[in-house]
Amino acid sequence: MKKVVDNFIAANRNEKDILTTKFEARDKVRRGRKAFSIAGESIDPGTRGTIDIAAAKLYNRNELFMNIHVVHGKSDGPVLFVSGAVHGDEINGVEIIRRLLKLKLLNSLRGTLIAVPVVNSFGFVNRSRYLPDRRDLNRFFPGSPTGSLTGQLASIFMEEVVLRSTHGIDFHTGANMRSNLPQIRAVVSDPKVKEMAMAFGAPVVLDAELRDGSLRSAAYDKNIPMLLFEGGQSMRFDQIPIRVGVQGVISVMRYLGMLPKAKTHSKRIPSVLAKSSTWARASSSGVFLPRVNLGDIINKKQVIGIVTDPLGEHEHQILSPASGIVIGQLQSPLVHKGDAVSHVASISDMDIAENALDSFQREFEIESKLQQYEEGYL
Ligand SMILES: [Zn+2]
Repeated sequence: MKKVVDNFIAANRNEKDILTTKFEARDKVRRGRKAFSIAGESIDPGTRGTIDIAAAKLYNRNELFMNIHVVHGKSDGPVLFVSGAVHGDEINGVEIIRRLLKLKLLNSLRGTLIAVPVVNSFGFVNRSRYLPDRRDLNRFFPGSPTGSLTGQLASIFMEEVVLRSTHGIDFHTGANMRSNLPQIRAVVSDPKVKEMAMAFGAPVVLDAELRDGSLRSAAYDKNIPMLLFEGGQSMRFDQIPIRVGVQGVISVMRYLGMLPKAKTHSKRIPSVLAKSSTWARASSSGVFLPRVNLGDIINKKQVIGIVTDPLGEHEHQILSPASGIVIGQLQSPLVHKGDAVSHVASISDMDIAENALDSFQREFEIESKLQQYEEGYL
């Protein structure tokens, strides 16, 4: 079923429609769960539907929509939102959400799933992180209906999605030619957020402070536990982060009681919790040659890369600023002195980190190879 909502029509429904809706709603209450209402449209229990919310008007008279898919379970439970492309060029989340919505498992959903694969449609179409007013949406939450273009989009997403939810997960990737190891960023001092973060099952959970204007900060202010997932690189579909993302949402939904518990017990070692992280920076300008990979466990002062020049006459080492796990890595060889090249999550217990990363790599590399085999690539 596809429901396309035109706000104008919704606002101008005739009396009969309104009365019918009221009676239907009363019937639903008698029979059990109420329909889910969003943007003037309602989704019955045990059904799903797509709503296109008018997000902005373009200067060529066309309208821009935010497409939202709602899966409204038959029985009561949490309301989880999942969102992608808040940064329009970070598209792994778009694919994570597409795959999630295909799962038959959702037929046994308790509660409600609100899926918004593309929050920043402007950026997605233009392959850009930003909006046309050159603002970063993730610095403008909670936004305002009378604010800038970016502030208005933030406000629509807050009102229609975040404030209707009890929990949320927002998907991001590395920016500026940097790739991220799949990781959750969350306020782990909040026990509800920490448990949700650990349930996701990414190899690393990074205790990340809230940044003013971010979606995480706006959700936190409204007491809505929310995770931010980082994985892969912008403008790519990175297979392993995508699979970790889909698996992670399912695990969180199982943890929240939205899906039945898994039949087989996972052998995975729990996520490594990192309290802080630091970027290693290029020690000079030139050609960057990495000496470590994403997911490597490294010691403080270990050589993590070399910067040389095109003639190879001068070589400068880049040393790790901390002991820990490489969670982000520059993918371009051209650097200026001071450019961020490797992101290191500080870890105190290296043995635990090593076991956790081994377990993650075994599971997802094997899974990835099997998947490629099934798809006929191998
Ligand atoms: Zn992002």
